[in-house]
Amino acid sequence: MTTSVVVFGSCNMDLVAYVPVAPGQGETVTGREFRTVPGGKGANQAIAAAKAGAQARMIGAVGEDEFGAEIRRTFQQSTVDVEGLRTAPGRSGTAHIVVDDQGNNSIVVVPAANGTVDGLADGDEEIIAGCDSLLLQLEIPQSGVAAAAAAAKRRGVRVVLTPAPAVLLPEDLLRDVDLLVPNEHEAAVLTGHEDPERALSALLELVPEVVITLGSRGCVYGHRDGTRHEVPAFPVRAVDTTAAGDTFVGVLSTALGEGEEIPAALRRAAAGSALSVQRTGATSAMPSREEIVRFLVDR
Ligand code: ADP
Repeated sequence: MTTSVVVFGSCNMDLVAYVPVAPGQGETVTGREFRTVPGGKGANQAIAAAKAGAQARMIGAVGEDEFGAEIRRTFQQSTVDVEGLRTAPGRSGTAHIVVDDQGNNSIVVVPAANGTVDGLADGDEEIIAGCDSLLLQLEIPQSGVAAAAAAAKRRGVRVVLTPAPAVLLPEDLLRDVDLLVPNEHEAAVLTGHEDPERALSALLELVPEVVITLGSRGCVYGHRDGTRHEVPAFPVRAVDTTAAGDTFVGVLSTALGEGEEIPAALRRAAAGSALSVQRTGATSAMPSREEIVRFLVDR
């Protein structure tokens, strides 16, 4: 059974400079290499879901510049439907990333067109209503996130929220969220608890289902009815963990939409992200459905 997933969120062009040592204040350093890659958590999740086998749709905005055209092309190449992707006046969102030889990075995000996604446009509710799941993150204005979540709730569509970047969430948004998927840092910011078990219990007072991802330690799942699962990460040699969480959410939502039970869906998501961390890049590292199936058969 094919499932359909819509992302209402951000898309950026990532402008990445690779340097031996990152510059300090007032300093200029010479970089080794420069790359542009479409990114943003919304775009990443849409592409992860499409590669994992979902019919994926993207609602959001790019600017009128060449970056916008390139982001749009990338969606089309990844079979993500762009009927809901608007072109806003001005520039596309950009992320200015400096990566040093230790793999540490510093990032400046300029939201630009993403800042215009502050509510539903004509046709958005129909797109959302035609899907099984709505994936949300927090890189667009909160009014846009809340409007999309409310539309999904009205139409009986599952709402999955990645609370990144982490900020305290208003109650009216939380009321509409079915599944919250923070990483451990976001879970700690939202609850004040560093311990994942305590954070999980606190988050389950806000929403019915929670997955906290724990990097190479896997993830913990909880449901308000008392169900708990711990799923270890697959032991692989990680070279680049960029967008591991976005891959996880895209694959998880696809599996749940296809009717998989939670333990199997979490395992599939762990497999998808284990494959992605073994390759460099964000969307370019995301595995296809066939790769995920093969990976799981071997284990
Ligand atoms: P984020 O990218 O949002 O910070 P995490 O780092 O928690 O998210 O990673 C999400 C998921 O990706 C984890 O639950 C795990 O399944 C997988 N993952 C992350 N890092 C590794 C790793 N080093 N080895 C294997 N799997 C990993």
